[in-house]
Amino acid sequence: MPRRNDLEYKALQLIANTGNQGVLQSEMWRKLDASSREGSRISLKLEKKGLVRRERELFGGRWTYRLYLKRQPASINSIIDCPCLMCPDDPRCGVWSTISPTQCEKLTEWMLSLVQREMNPSGES
Ligand code: SF4
Repeated sequence: MPRRNDLEYKALQLIANTGNQGVLQSEMWRKLDASSREGSRISLKLEKKGLVRRERELFGGRWTYRLYLKRQPASINSIIDCPCLMCPDDPRCGVWSTISPTQCEKLTEWMLSLVQREMNPSGES
């Protein structure tokens, strides 16, 4: 694999590991041992591919960018309360079966609760 692709991959991993905090472009290139020119080119490329979001930030009196992953990888917490995980019908459940996720009230209720949480994260009614 060419060095640039390798750096892109490492940069993406580093950005992913910073979660919601993101990482300053300058800090990242230092960690990856890349030049700022090379770093800027790669961050632009990652942005064009739709993988990262760049936000302008004043840091130490100079304008730079903070990089965020556009889509965070799914975490186990996102499905920890899914009813399927502890469902006694799981072995017999399937799309073509008589017990089916397409007809399951427990699953539908859980998905609706996710939508509700997404629309009202503070839990106020
Ligand atoms: S879809 Fe419903 S029935 Fe099927 S495993 Fe999940 S909770 Fe159980």
